[in-house]
Amino acid sequence: MSKTIIISNRLPVQLQISDGGLTATPSVGGLATGMKSVHSGGESLWIGWSGLTEEDTPADLESEIDKALAKHGCAKVNLTANEIDGFYFGFSNRTIWPLFHYFLEYTEFELDFWNVYKSVNQKFADAIIEQSNEDDTIWVHDYQLMLVPQMVREKRPNTSIGFFLHIPFPSYEIFRTMPWREEVLEGLLGSDLIGFHTYDYERHFLSSVRRLLGLEVSFNDVYQDHRVIKVDSFPMGIDYKKFRDAAIAHGKNAPENRSDFQIKLDDHKASAPDTKLIISIDRLDYSKGIAKRINAFEYFLNKYPQYKEKVRLIILAVPSRSNVPQYQLLKKEIDELVGRINGELSTVNWTPIWYFYRSMPFENLIDLYTSSDIAWLTPLRDGMNLVAKEYIATRIDKTGVLILSEMAGSAYEMNEALLINPNNFEQQADTLKQAITMPKEEQMARNMFLQNRLERYNVEVWANEFMNALNQKSEGDDTFVSQKLSNSILNQISKQYAGSKKRLLFLDYDGTLTGFHKDPQKATPDAELYKLLDQLHNDKNTTLFLISGRDKQTFTKWFLDKKYNMIVEHGVWISTEGEPFRMLENVKGEWMEKIKPVLESFVDRTPGSFIEEKNYSMAWHYRNTDPDFGQKRATELNTVLTSLIGNDDISVLNGNKVMEVKSSNVNKGRASVRMLGEDDYDFVFAIGDDWTDEFMFQELPDSAVTVKVGLKKTQARYYVENTKRVRDLLHQLVDA
Ligand code: UDP
Repeated sequence: MSKTIIISNRLPVQLQISDGGLTATPSVGGLATGMKSVHSGGESLWIGWSGLTEEDTPADLESEIDKALAKHGCAKVNLTANEIDGFYFGFSNRTIWPLFHYFLEYTEFELDFWNVYKSVNQKFADAIIEQSNEDDTIWVHDYQLMLVPQMVREKRPNTSIGFFLHIPFPSYEIFRTMPWREEVLEGLLGSDLIGFHTYDYERHFLSSVRRLLGLEVSFNDVYQDHRVIKVDSFPMGIDYKKFRDAAIAHGKNAPENRSDFQIKLDDHKASAPDTKLIISIDRLDYSKGIAKRINAFEYFLNKYPQYKEKVRLIILAVPSRSNVPQYQLLKKEIDELVGRINGELSTVNWTPIWYFYRSMPFENLIDLYTSSDIAWLTPLRDGMNLVAKEYIATRIDKTGVLILSEMAGSAYEMNEALLINPNNFEQQADTLKQAITMPKEEQMARNMFLQNRLERYNVEVWANEFMNALNQKSEGDDTFVSQKLSNSILNQISKQYAGSKKRLLFLDYDGTLTGFHKDPQKATPDAELYKLLDQLHNDKNTTLFLISGRDKQTFTKWFLDKKYNMIVEHGVWISTEGEPFRMLENVKGEWMEKIKPVLESFVDRTPGSFIEEKNYSMAWHYRNTDPDFGQKRATELNTVLTSLIGNDDISVLNGNKVMEVKSSNVNKGRASVRMLGEDDYDFVFAIGDDWTDEFMFQELPDSAVTVKVGLKKTQARYYVENTKRVRDLLHQLVDA
């Protein structure tokens, strides 16, 4: 039976060794909760690090640990203290974390970190391969494991692999500074589905894939060799019911059952009933903008001094990554800031900031959420920010105001909150005032919308949506209307080929018989190709045509000696049995003088593009331009040309990174059908990779074997993945 394998840096179980004994308690974090529906029963396994280094694991407890983890459906990856240093504290938290949160100044590009990251990712991948079968579904989590999908794919080409990134994916301009950027992208592309919190992260990723790897991207599909990788956004939700129920229970608590912390909060409220409580809760991380927030609070108190003694800011900063120097510095900075501001502004009755540097148990978190009037969250960059969602979920009577940074992923879904730019103190001071004075009805109206959305799109729905998308992907998608040319179909075709007496073959050249080059003149035929074509051509039962959009000079140079039959410029010229090219279609070329300056102006304005002039057509190539820019210009050129040519007998063809202007009555379909009419053929075959070949696929009779190269929508009956497969196919025909 197939299983689901979940893999993350940390396991959702806390191990504790005391007095030689072992306890294993499940964690209650958001991810663990969200995965409940995915990680249940005996059909799933969660692989990750246990939190104990090899050095900290007593040898005699090893098997007991494995057993304890197995009870929770978990298996561990053993890591040494050194590995944790390089992989987790090093590359993950000193390279990827700051870089992906736009803190270039804190980003360290250390080759040693990278090497450990790679080897630890390999350890995780090996663990998956050891513990899984080909038909299992694998879900890899987060930035610590970005190379794992590719590493698993190498050994398990057909397994369904999903990846979700829980932090932002930065813009290409930031991402490209990383020395190992291609490896990281390729690592991720081992997946079938890559998920992000927001559309912006998705867009940034796709942009990097296009620019750095030069891969084709169409909507949210990435085309890599014979694979299509789906990229999509799935904003992570929270366990809404858990927070809501806890808040309801909290509200019903008898006074004597209140926590000590709640008693203190209540005492404070009783002593100053018109004082507003503002909370801010984050891990102590520079991405959270805690220091800026404190400065902005001081700014607010100075701008609106009437609120002195009338508001209090409670800061809960949860210790995090204290082994990383940057975090130690930050802690010092915040300690000093709070000290200074409290020192300067406190009165006998009032301390402006209450600062807690610790982690609080869930119960106290609920105390804080429910007792505050305002939650003020100002990350400079945050993948999602769940605290914002949790705060809203606990507001049972729907009051409370959320002030949220627009740099948080959650801001995209929380439009009804007061969204701020954390760098704008003026705006934040005014927003705090707005929050303090916001009428209850308005608070409730805003929160009603927010709560409805959070309740609907909770963390379980998030996990299920991701899994459904991954399963759909592996069940095959509807992107292709043609059938993959499998080995068994190829065997049938070979038989048909061998049994026929008069065969007609149309082979496109670029992108079919050979790959693309930056300079089309360099895409010369290789020795293997000549040999293969000779074998096909020399068979007296076979009429072979090379059919191309290329100019006749180039094909004369490459193939005339070989006496292959050729049709070039999409059907303008023909050469048979080594004869010089003659015209197949009567075409006029006067229009070319009119169109040429237009194409030239596009070349001037689009670095990397160039014009190819043929006798009766002109092509604007943009393969070597920036992919986004090139595409944009191509659309623009299409519009310009369409309006220019009006009712003339010319048309624009949109090929593979090339736009070609040519006479309308010329195309490969018309040319191939003319050739077909010249004899009584009993086997017709056509293969090609781009739009211009579709004319052949459309116009040849249904009995023809038509094959598209690459995974694109097509009228051909079959498709093969790449040029290598084309050669295999032709070899098989020859051998038949
Ligand atoms: N949290 C916690 N203990 C605390 C304070 C916060 O467990 O003392 C939790 C909080 O409930 C939230 C998480 O920590 O679920 C923080 O998630 P968020 O997305 O806001 O930030 P991250 O730490 O993932 O960057």
